[in-house]
Amino acid sequence: PSARRAPAGGLIKVDSDNTLYEDGGIKARYTDRGADVVKDADGRLKVTKTEKTFEFYTKSNVGRVGLMLVGIGGNNGTTVMATNLANKHNISWHTKNGEQQPNYIGSLVRASTVALGTDPETGKQVYVPISDMLPMVHPNDFVIGGWDISGVSMDKAMARGKVLDYDLQRQLAPYMKEYKPMPSIYYPDFIAANQADRADNVIPGEDKQAHLEHIRKDIRDFKAANQLDNVIVLWTANTERYADIIPGINDTAENLLNAIKTSHDEVSPSTIFAVAAILEGMPFINGSPQNTFVPGCIELAEQKKAFISGDDFKSGQTKVKSVLAEFLVNAGIKPLSISSYNHLGNNDGKNLSSAKQFRSKEISKSSVVDDMVAANPVLFKTAADLTEETGVVTKKGEHPDHIVVIKHVPAVGDSKRAIDEYYSELLMGGRNVMNIFNECEDSLLATPLIFDLAILADLLTRVTYREVPKAGEAGEFQPLYSVLSLLSYMLKAPLVKPGTDVVNSLNRQRNALDQFLKACIGLEHQGDLLLETRVW
Ligand code: NAD
Repeated sequence: PSARRAPAGGLIKVDSDNTLYEDGGIKARYTDRGADVVKDADGRLKVTKTEKTFEFYTKSNVGRVGLMLVGIGGNNGTTVMATNLANKHNISWHTKNGEQQPNYIGSLVRASTVALGTDPETGKQVYVPISDMLPMVHPNDFVIGGWDISGVSMDKAMARGKVLDYDLQRQLAPYMKEYKPMPSIYYPDFIAANQADRADNVIPGEDKQAHLEHIRKDIRDFKAANQLDNVIVLWTANTERYADIIPGINDTAENLLNAIKTSHDEVSPSTIFAVAAILEGMPFINGSPQNTFVPGCIELAEQKKAFISGDDFKSGQTKVKSVLAEFLVNAGIKPLSISSYNHLGNNDGKNLSSAKQFRSKEISKSSVVDDMVAANPVLFKTAADLTEETGVVTKKGEHPDHIVVIKHVPAVGDSKRAIDEYYSELLMGGRNVMNIFNECEDSLLATPLIFDLAILADLLTRVTYREVPKAGEAGEFQPLYSVLSLLSYMLKAPLVKPGTDVVNSLNRQRNALDQFLKACIGLEHQGDLLLETRVW
């Protein structure tokens, strides 16, 4: 998973009429098969098979890609830069366990594989790293920069974070000290008051329009100075409080732009960064839980055909929860309650010790089992069942109790503890209690997700599609829809196309990504049917 690179021209070549390798890219035809399900008059479910054919075009020239981090001086930001530099310069370091090499362990793109098909001679499955599926930027090649309200240089910020081994920090310091975060937007009301003593690197004034223009110029200048083809802007700054959604202020694109012009109180720094990226035509990803993407911001991205994705990195506890809850529900076991406790000692934990910022995190952590529960009306009564049973109109179906507690314990630093109890109903009234105690460095889980989000967001900006109707002409190729929900695997509270269902199941999120990457090279999804192993 370190600096391995695919040969020029890619490692995979699909031999099919459906896949054309052209000079500038890969054109692939893919048929999406599904089923419409309708209840008929007798209450029977009538299923009709559907299919739609698409063509995908993936531009193969990756070019030079920038990664601009908001909150670059924090634990995640410094660890991203340090990981990039250590890999790029192949810096190894000494630990009490011996010599350690740099790597990208924990990155879905760089360190996990997809089954491509079967070797006809051995009958064994052939696996390839996700990074070999399509032309993707190598994380060593990102040009990294960004903003922080704390102005200390990156070597000092890395030392402050206390994430990486001393011997690595010592060797990286000469590279890191060259970079000082750019000044950022600071509206004290949005993050915890306990962050005020960090804020020594802020863009002056209170004019939000001027702040927007300042950030837009920073993005443009960074792109020009480094001769970049694409720049991913990613929020890994402190968790903000939720912004109130106010009709006339942030409900439409036009109102939001006006609210920025009049410096309305409810426009947060993260929304200004998102708007700046959208107006510059650069993808924006929100790694924190707050509602950066107010309705006006999503509408603006749609209007500009820009790309956005969020919210909140799904690094540890939530990832495990989305797997375990799905395991229980799919096993026909009924979770009655899920109780989660966290304590951590880093600056993120300090910021989250304040009530409004904790509330943002609580919201983002709480909806993670909703889709699994909704998918199983055998175990969980639906709102309609409850209404019929009680005679009282009920809007929400049955749901396990779910609580989330987070406490700041400075002594444990970046090493977060997550304790979860799953309490479930078994056969004939039995009960099952499962406890998980998870302990690890938070920023070492989040950093590979940041690389994955940026690599995949860059890739998805190079993919265009068109529908191929059964009769008539196919139209022009166009970009994907603005909200990149294909990045959900890395996000705790995935933002999706308004009006569509959120998928929290980690397996389903991963399958969607595998399938999409395959579709872009014209391959059908190879499920787990393995029919040849079931027949004579
Ligand atoms: P951190 O506190 O170490 O870093 C945040 C940085 O953002 C700080 O350096 C701070 O000075 C800066 N900052 C605050 N407001 C800013 C602004 N308006 N503009 C620019 N910079 C600003 O936190 P972290 O551990 O690096 O986590 C970053 C974010 O990622 C947090 O919101 C956290 O909740 C979220 N997150 C982290 C994980 C994880 O596993 N580490 C998982 C999910 C979400």
